[in-house]
Amino acid sequence: MERVYNFSAGPSMLPLSVLEKAASELTAYGGSGMSVMEMSHRSKVYGEIFARVKQSLREVMNVPETHEILFMQGGATAQFAAVPLNLLGEGGTADYALTGVFSTNAYNEAKKYCSPRAVFSGEAEGFRRIPDQSELQLSPSASYFHHCSNNTIYGTAWNYIPETGSVPLVADMSSEILSRPVDISKYGLIYAGVQKNMAPAGMAVVIVDKALLGRELPITPTIMSYAKFMKADSMLNTPPTYTIYMLGLVLDWVKENGGLSGMDSLRRERSSMIYDLLDSSGFYKAVAEKNSRSMMNVTFRTGSEELDAKFVKEAAAEGLVNLKGHRLAGGMRASIYNAMPVEGVIKLVEFMKKFERENG
Ligand SMILES: *Cc1c(COP(=O)(O)O)cnc(C)c1O
Repeated sequence: MERVYNFSAGPSMLPLSVLEKAASELTAYGGSGMSVMEMSHRSKVYGEIFARVKQSLREVMNVPETHEILFMQGGATAQFAAVPLNLLGEGGTADYALTGVFSTNAYNEAKKYCSPRAVFSGEAEGFRRIPDQSELQLSPSASYFHHCSNNTIYGTAWNYIPETGSVPLVADMSSEILSRPVDISKYGLIYAGVQKNMAPAGMAVVIVDKALLGRELPITPTIMSYAKFMKADSMLNTPPTYTIYMLGLVLDWVKENGGLSGMDSLRRERSSMIYDLLDSSGFYKAVAEKNSRSMMNVTFRTGSEELDAKFVKEAAAEGLVNLKGHRLAGGMRASIYNAMPVEGVIKLVEFMKKFERENG
């Protein structure tokens, strides 16, 4: 069966060559005589896979030795709790920027462990923009500042790294990790659910400055302790073994395609094709403000809910699927992660022009 162009926000497309490679060794990996899915996580053969994937992620993301890489379960949502539990310290509090649904969820979760401050909320403006640095009145005594670098649902992104002085910077990068080079040394902690741009669902990648470990609250569940995960090299219990293996294949693909700077050029190419059309059209409207636009999730509307629904339906009939916006945001959303071929976006833009001619 022919594959469609899948604009899903997540789980989302994986590179076809990655799926084919996984299929080719699905029933027997290397000389092991068994599927990766069937291996003990403590076996030598799996230990080698695991070590290679972790090293590969360190290379691709240029993670300095000051930072540890952890593979944890519970997706990004578990990190909404793990971050305060591990980083607040006794009696500590934290600052949050509320730029969408997930950052608000993270803030609400932190309320269970402290009295976090919302230093910015875009809610009244429909989460259409990201604050400027001058709008962020951060508290110098906060244990960390949390922000979501790419807002998957509303299609906005921080186009700068917030300056936080000596306060550790925490970022939820779920929907943009691996799409551009990142100066990891600027961050106390980065986390990402893998199902958007890294691997099939089933875990979160956490990149944490080792200097921040050791102040977890005593109530921190063992399964959420960064220090304990680091000590056990993410093998405190059975890790999502197959997801980690798949991440390794995706990282190989990223390397073959120019690494993170290659991914960055591709995301600029893909997103500008759609934004150029939106900016020149009197029919479509981009949702996000211009200097807050995401290159991963492009949100737009026709202005008529009926036409939006017709758009989504007719696009799907042409093999352009999952363009319906999130139920909270409405309209359309094209999620164009690393694995979306440029041809998929060319096809989408052609369809958008045709739809405008027929309905504008
Ligand atoms: C998808 C997403 C989440 C939630 O991820 P889960 O792995 O489902 O918990 C959190 N933050 C952002 C930015 C996301 O895109």
